[in-house]
Amino acid sequence: MSIIVFGSINMDLVATAPHLPTAGETLLGYNFFQATGGKGANQAVAIGKVNQEDVERLSQLLPGKKALLLQLEIPITAVIAAAREAQKAGVKVILDPAPTQKELPEELYPLVDILTPNQVEAAQLVGFPVNGEDSAKKAAEILLQKGVKCAVVKLGAKGVYCSNSTESFFTPAFSVKTVDTTAAGDAFNGGLAAALSEELSLKQAMIWGSAAGALAATKSGAQPSLPDRDTFDKFLIGHRK
Ligand code: ADP
Repeated sequence: MSIIVFGSINMDLVATAPHLPTAGETLLGYNFFQATGGKGANQAVAIGKVNQEDVERLSQLLPGKKALLLQLEIPITAVIAAAREAQKAGVKVILDPAPTQKELPEELYPLVDILTPNQVEAAQLVGFPVNGEDSAKKAAEILLQKGVKCAVVKLGAKGVYCSNSTESFFTPAFSVKTVDTTAAGDAFNGGLAAALSEELSLKQAMIWGSAAGALAATKSGAQPSLPDRDTFDKFLIGHRK
């Protein structure tokens, strides 16, 4: 597959508790498990350490690739350098602006082909609440003005709003039995990139992303919940839109 993920890898320690602990509160947890995670790793189980050498190595890998997936769990200078290299090589940059940042460096926006914030991340970047189609549309307009070529605002179980200079549309989420939405956004980006690498339309790419996100929401954990291709294809056939 002609996609590169440049990002982080870590181990998620997951315990279920009756409610969120307040500051200083000790709670008994149950169902403890460990799972491999990390935004970069969730998108491809890829690169674990980031530095200038990695960016140089990355630039050698870029030629001929379709997309570079980036997130913000690595230093922002590395993100910018990687996006710049991708733009030079003609590789599409798909940036998940997570974990949430109050702002992104202005120089980063024009380097991004597709920016994929969730509701919280979008709200932080534009400065008003984003919780449905209308506010997602307004947020997308601002992100496009800042220089991204396409804004994809992920709205959890509601769906996703997508906008570029030629088309704007909403794709409702698939209805599934939700167990744990950890990594739904990472799965979404994986599905989106896979669709684009297969030269599918933006509309179809939103459907692939939504299917991957919905499937990830049906299982616990991060990487253990990411669907394999067979499960993914069967789900799509069973839920034709
Ligand atoms: P993040 O995990 O980054 O917070 P979201 O929660 O918005 O991102 O999820 C990304 C996408 O995955 C959504 O736009 C939606 O298409 C799909 N998705 C997420 N949660 C659900 C859910 N409970 N049911 C169905 N689809 C979901």
